[in-house]
Amino acid sequence: MNTRPDVVVIGAGVFGLASAWELAKNGHSVVVLDRAPVGTEASGWALGRLDPLLKGSGSTGTIERDLPAGHIAKPEAQQEIALLSYRIHQKLTPEIEKISGLDLQVDHQPTLQLFYSQEERDFGAQYAARWTDMGFKTDLISDQEILGIDSRFRTTDFGGAIVRGPYFIDSLNFVKALAACASSVGVRLETATVTAIEDSGDQGVTVHTDQGHYEAGSVIVAAGPWSPQLVEPLGASVPVHPSKGEILRLKPPEGVGFPMHLLGPCSLVKKRDGLVWVAATVAEVGFDKTPTAEASQKLLEYAETMMPDAADWPVVEHSACFRPATPDDLPVVGAVTDNVFVASGGGGGGIGHCLLVGREVGKLVSNGEPEMTAFSVKRFG
Ligand SMILES: Cc1cc2nc3c(=O)[nH]c(=O)nc-3n(C[C@H](O)[C@H](O)[C@H](O)COP(=O)(O)OP(=O)(O)OC[C@H]3O[C@@H](n4cnc5c(N)ncnc54)[C@H](O)[C@@H]3O)c2cc1C
Repeated sequence: MNTRPDVVVIGAGVFGLASAWELAKNGHSVVVLDRAPVGTEASGWALGRLDPLLKGSGSTGTIERDLPAGHIAKPEAQQEIALLSYRIHQKLTPEIEKISGLDLQVDHQPTLQLFYSQEERDFGAQYAARWTDMGFKTDLISDQEILGIDSRFRTTDFGGAIVRGPYFIDSLNFVKALAACASSVGVRLETATVTAIEDSGDQGVTVHTDQGHYEAGSVIVAAGPWSPQLVEPLGASVPVHPSKGEILRLKPPEGVGFPMHLLGPCSLVKKRDGLVWVAATVAEVGFDKTPTAEASQKLLEYAETMMPDAADWPVVEHSACFRPATPDDLPVVGAVTDNVFVASGGGGGGIGHCLLVGREVGKLVSNGEPEMTAFSVKRFG
């Protein structure tokens, strides 16, 4: 609070920290404010799957309405952005691990997308050659071949596809590592709950908090699904809403293997923590973060659909958090007033998107607009 920073970033999730890191690398002095410890919200609890291709089970559901039945891939616009984000992750991961000293637990196990209809198999066939050409070797396989991989898997007559390239990281280590990267270039991380933002044009911005106020040249609102309520008093409307997602972590018996990530009605995957994650539900219930028995039951049913054994393993963690969701499942990066910018809307892919978003925030603060029109606030009219 003592020296006036160039930029105050509100939110120490992956969007806020990736933005702060980028801004500081570009020579700005930056303070990040968060009301809670790093990783308290979705950034610390996400499944951590970096997949530029498959729709997966973590979409907010808002994209479903425009897709034909059985469409297993992300819509084209999302595949493009997710691929760019994926490449940036691959490039920066060694640097992030080196600076932070944290293991991101990169895990390159293949994904077995199970098919439940002829339409899904047809889409699989349509994408297999294309994804293979892009460097993501994809093979269509029959139900018998799936059982040959592991007889515990439950299949249908439609078989599945093995997709190689999408991978997992540990979200909590990742968000903590981003905090360390930001600190390494001088970013100050402070605990405060932001209550209001005042934009005084040429005079800069005042950020009011429960710890006093901060003066800055500009502000990045990266407060996840809480971003709209911070910018609405400035006359800005940003269509980001909380989309609740619940995850179970199961403890398989000692020595029990799990050969690959199963993707069907949900994700079923053994992560490097040794636990099998069942992810995730989607519910539009406002800001109620209570884990529910209903979600737990649904996730266990999903798990059973793909691998009956897993549904009997003890649940050692049941978590719930919010995807900051937008109507088209793409982030929002843009100016809401002269000196106040928003960076939110990661939806179910925000761990993937955040490094690209950070790069765009860097350009936004320098040029007033993000380079990627797909992220523009103006797209919502
Ligand atoms: C169940 C689930 C699974 C997911 N799995 C994946 C996945 O596999 N791959 C993937 O890429 N993405 C995944 N995601 C999405 C990803 O977690 C989010 O898109 C991303 O973490 C959002 O980051 P964020 O920084 O925008 O928001 P958040 O992580 O929500 O951070 C916002 C921060 O703002 C702070 N804040 C809010 N209001 C205030 C205030 N007034 N004052 C001060 N601080 C404030 C909060 O405390 C919080 O720390 C998943 C999400 C869910 C829910």
